[in-house]
Amino acid sequence: MSLKIYNSISSQKETFTPLVEGRAGMYVCGPTVYSDVHIGNVRTFVSFDMIYRYLLYLGYKVRYVRNITDVGHLEGDVDTGAEDKISKKARLEQVEPMEVVQRYTLGFHHVMRLFNTLDPSIEPRATGHILEQIEMVQKIMDKGYAYEVDGSVYFDTVKLIKEADVYGKLSGRKVEDLLVETRELKKQNEKRNPADFAIWIKAEENHLLRWNAPWSEGFPGWHLECSVMSTKYLGERFDIHGGGNDLKFPHHENEIAQHYGACGNTPANYWLHTNMLLMNGRKMSKSEGNFITPEQLFSGESEHISKAYSPMAVKFFFLQAHYGSTLDLNDASLGAAEKGYRRLLEAYNTLNQLSSEIPRSDKPLAIEIEEGIKAAFEEMDDDFNVPKSLARLFEMCATINKMADGQLDVNDAGQYSLDIAKKGFKNLLIDIYGLSDESAAGTDDHMNQLDGLMKLVIDMRQQARQNKDWPTSDKIRDTLAAIDIELKDGKEGTKWVIGK
Ligand code: AMP
Ligand code: ZN
Repeated sequence: MSLKIYNSISSQKETFTPLVEGRAGMYVCGPTVYSDVHIGNVRTFVSFDMIYRYLLYLGYKVRYVRNITDVGHLEGDVDTGAEDKISKKARLEQVEPMEVVQRYTLGFHHVMRLFNTLDPSIEPRATGHILEQIEMVQKIMDKGYAYEVDGSVYFDTVKLIKEADVYGKLSGRKVEDLLVETRELKKQNEKRNPADFAIWIKAEENHLLRWNAPWSEGFPGWHLECSVMSTKYLGERFDIHGGGNDLKFPHHENEIAQHYGACGNTPANYWLHTNMLLMNGRKMSKSEGNFITPEQLFSGESEHISKAYSPMAVKFFFLQAHYGSTLDLNDASLGAAEKGYRRLLEAYNTLNQLSSEIPRSDKPLAIEIEEGIKAAFEEMDDDFNVPKSLARLFEMCATINKMADGQLDVNDAGQYSLDIAKKGFKNLLIDIYGLSDESAAGTDDHMNQLDGLMKLVIDMRQQARQNKDWPTSDKIRDTLAAIDIELKDGKEGTKWVIGK
């Protein structure tokens, strides 16, 4: 079977045929580094990590480019002259914008490492590519697809729509709707049409991030950086462009427009979009205040969860849904994922201890095992279907456990099929899903033991307090504090958290 990918631009699953045989180029929109990432952002980057890992497993030489947005992402509408997210944070905290960028870039990398994701091949920053962005604006103007008004440059969407059938396809928006869409925005009067968008923005007096360009001292539009960095590192036409599906419009649609304006073609052959992580049925989002951070999940310090979850339990929770489906984060699902992950790891460890005296068997058990593994990989070929692939492995867990306790005879399996199973489990769990055995760092088992122990301690302290035995209750709290465990008394009883 060959790899099939759901292409957002055709709304169909298509066979993946790279531009250059044996190679794959993938660009993924990275984070805007003005605050800590929330766990919804992490889901998207974990999904693309799995996709990257599978392409590598299939033997492609992959160039994976994931940018850092450190300028140009405005609060509010990109065309309104609203404040840059990074500048705003810098102003509020009275630090340099680059201090904000440094802090949250490091924080993002730290979180990505905790989730055991691979580094991209190139991680370019928007501010490191201002010259190229100015050049691209010029190129678009030279080709007649942009115009300048009072130091700002706008993309001429109407001209593009008249000349090529490329705008609106990705997001499924009707061109007529795009053209009549009018909003009362600042600078709106500068545009020839409301659907036009800024590619260079003249900086207002107090705007911190600014560069000299032929049109004004200003800064590039947010969409431009991705057009520039994808083309610079992957070429004018490349294989895969990815991001969360909330970026389809306007970000990716405008990337397509600019790219066409500058290069005369659309950038990527395959557009991959991950679906949103929800909480309480709504998109997890910082601006809506509906979010939870990785640290809160790891410490259990959030009203949305009753206990701490390890990074791999959370990752496993993500993997149980297809990247293209929404996924609702809640305590019950996290708890189920934690158990499922443990069961799978235990079966994997059990499998690794099995051996057979028969080199190769042709009994039904051998065939069942070999076909089970084959099916788990075939699910991956079907648009990276991890949940179905995982389901195949779970079916095999029962067989593995039966072989271990003698209900099934390992000699009916034979060493050959056992070796296939061991290799298949290792490739899928470790290399492709990117799970790691957390036993060295404190496993879910350890966390559960610790949780049980802490419940006992909390009960004893409660008892002491009821007996007005203050020295004992204080001693418990202080001793725990000395080893960085904090007790938090609340309406629903006492919770414990590991201090930072
Ligand atoms: P941002 O830093 O806002 O540009 O977002 C970084 C990435 O996270 C983008 O690809 C977004 O599409 C993605 N993202 C934002 N919110 C969510 C969410 N709730 N679930 C999944 N991905 C998200
Ligand atoms: Zn982007």
